[in-house]
Amino acid sequence: MSFITELSERMPQRVHAPGSPAYETGSHVFAGQGTPDAVVRPSSAAEVAEAVRAAVAAGVPITVRSGGHGSDPATAGLLLDLSDLAAVELAGTDGLVHVGAGAKWGEVAAALAPHGLGITSGDTVDVGVGGLALGGGIGWLARTHGLTVDLLREVELVTAAGDVLTVNAESHPDLFWALRGGGGNFGVATRFTFQAAPVDGLVGGHLRWDQSDVPAVLRAWRDVLREAPDELNGTLLVMPPLMPEIPAGPQLAVALLGTEAELRRILAPMLELPSLADESLGPVAYVDLLEAAPPGKPPFLMVGGNGFVPDLSDEALEAFARAVDREVPTMLLLRALGGAFSRVAADATAIAQRDGQALLAVNGILPAESTEEQIAAARVAVDEAIAFTTGRYSNFTPEFDADAIAAIYPPATLERLRAVKREVDPGDVFRASHHIAP
Ligand SMILES: Cc1cc2nc3c(=O)[nH]c(=O)nc-3n(C[C@H](O)[C@H](O)[C@H](O)COP(=O)(O)OP(=O)(O)OC[C@H]3O[C@@H](n4cnc5c(N)ncnc54)[C@H](O)[C@@H]3O)c2cc1C
Repeated sequence: MSFITELSERMPQRVHAPGSPAYETGSHVFAGQGTPDAVVRPSSAAEVAEAVRAAVAAGVPITVRSGGHGSDPATAGLLLDLSDLAAVELAGTDGLVHVGAGAKWGEVAAALAPHGLGITSGDTVDVGVGGLALGGGIGWLARTHGLTVDLLREVELVTAAGDVLTVNAESHPDLFWALRGGGGNFGVATRFTFQAAPVDGLVGGHLRWDQSDVPAVLRAWRDVLREAPDELNGTLLVMPPLMPEIPAGPQLAVALLGTEAELRRILAPMLELPSLADESLGPVAYVDLLEAAPPGKPPFLMVGGNGFVPDLSDEALEAFARAVDREVPTMLLLRALGGAFSRVAADATAIAQRDGQALLAVNGILPAESTEEQIAAARVAVDEAIAFTTGRYSNFTPEFDADAIAAIYPPATLERLRAVKREVDPGDVFRASHHIAP
């Protein structure tokens, strides 16, 4: 009897074969359609453990899916779709929140909004809790409260041996360290407990400047960040002229826990630029800051990179401005860090680049059928900008080779992750996209 047939007999409601709707949605991720042999959609950690034990005994590869916004569709074996483990429960009055790994961040924000609470997450409603949290989690609130992993207090984890562990600072501390940035290499996270933070009293909105003024806007954003309190969060995006519905040029999405008068004072260097073309600032709710993600990977070839920028020097900003002033349409994003993000010790979690004052992402956008020469030309602009960064952010890195792993984790972090991996998954059952070998 095949492994899938046997598992279907043991968990008849949970196993979905190719062709069924639960298989099609469960095996689809942002980057495309996967082709696993079967999708298992468990309804408890105990069922996850049963499926893991059965797959390990049969030598069948396992892939884990939470929100499906990863960039690596499953190609074989068993896919564990955690969509039904999506409960969001406030644990008491101290802001501790239990969140199922399969929940989406928009659902978390909506559930916490009536309590005036929020958790640092990404910018979009659709991204899943599991993948984003295990990779770090950079989004709104990062300067105020740190990364998603900095607000993480406990993880319920199903190991390769099929044990269900409670992992926190006291129980399995090394594993808890590794789960905060080391990705899905250590087991299946079924439930997270976060410390939520107050988010009532936000003001924010959008600013936009003329396309020709990129260097001045980059300098003004840097000057704002050098003086800003931790309560300010935001991302500067420089869009190339690409689609008529999206205006080209520099634009800022910004929010402050404070008053509009304070926000205007903090943003004065940017508001006073004569190139300011559009401005809308006012009260905002945290839940409304999260936007819908595009339905899937855009049909372009993206030649890009990202990295933590420790020093927003004039030289770095000049390279960033040059990157978007080329023949290849190039998109650049400079997300505010520093603040609470930078007060976490470099060895406290698996995200080590805590001196980052911003996260840079730069992408040359080429037609899908571009030539090697066009790709190489786009690469030059990207590489010149990335040279001012100290390491990559895993969740923004769609490359999975050894060079990418080395760019994400400094040597000491990588060695420590490997030591935890040898302890908890010596047989290398969980081969996450950014694979940490035992
Ligand atoms: C449109 C878009 C916007 C984004 N915006 C942001 C952003 O603002 N900030 C940010 O930090 N990141 C952002 N990301 C990146 C995002 O954090 C990662 O792609 C993340 O992996 C998505 O998590 P997921 O659960 O939705 O993905 P999935 O595809 O479900 O999972 C991705 C991988 O994570 C691992 N994994 C997932 N869940 C588990 C689990 N429960 N246990 C063990 N391993 C697991 C698996 O290896 C899996 O292959 C964005 C991505 C997209 C596509």
